[in-house]
Amino acid sequence: MKIAIDGPAGAGKSTIARLVAQRLGLRYLDTGAMYRALTLAALGRGVSCADEDALMKVATSMDLEIVFDQETKGNRIYLDGQDVTAQIREPQVNANVSLVSSHQKVREYIVALQKEIARQGCIVMDGRDIGTVVMPDADWKIFLYASVEERARRRQRELQRNGHEVDLPDLEAQIRQRDHFDSTRAFSPLRKAEDAIEVDTTHLSIEQVVDKVLSIIGGADGDV
Ligand code: C5P
Repeated sequence: MKIAIDGPAGAGKSTIARLVAQRLGLRYLDTGAMYRALTLAALGRGVSCADEDALMKVATSMDLEIVFDQETKGNRIYLDGQDVTAQIREPQVNANVSLVSSHQKVREYIVALQKEIARQGCIVMDGRDIGTVVMPDADWKIFLYASVEERARRRQRELQRNGHEVDLPDLEAQIRQRDHFDSTRAFSPLRKAEDAIEVDTTHLSIEQVVDKVLSIIGGADGDV
């Protein structure tokens, strides 16, 4: 079974996708983590995130390893042998990752890696273009969204847990900017697949969203 979960930043994709994978006993891949790891590698090597060719050199020379935790279904990300799972969520990566992921060659390279992982068997993948580009043949396509205000509150809580204090209005502005960037880029933009089922998570708890997704997959008529 292949399940694609797409949506904008902060809609709850990673958490929901991981829990759905856990409940169904499937692998889970956080595709955003791959763009984040490349962004971290570029920043670490002093490469401009606007320079597509230089980014491709980083992409093709970095040693990126994604370890699937069988129990929690979480992904641990190793860059050149170092565990960077927490580091790829830092504000500096947040601020640059959309630019990195907007380059066509970068996307083609990363999408090819994702397609190869999808070919290896049943999986839940979350991202922006999973239902449209990476797994257009997915059995289920879910598009999660939530209001910008709610998504900013969620990002703030996530950052606070990691010891960062960021103002809510700043986060809202960042999210709007990232939405704009992700949905207007020329190549493979954030877009709901025509056959995806939309779920508004604004007023739902994590458990409620997981139950809703499972009920859709379990054969409900998709009227959410
Ligand atoms: O999902 P997450 O917020 O970690 O993704 C970080 C960024 O990576 C997104 O804002 C987007 O620019 C990019 N991304 C993408 N395609 C994906 C997953 C993430 O362009 N499939």
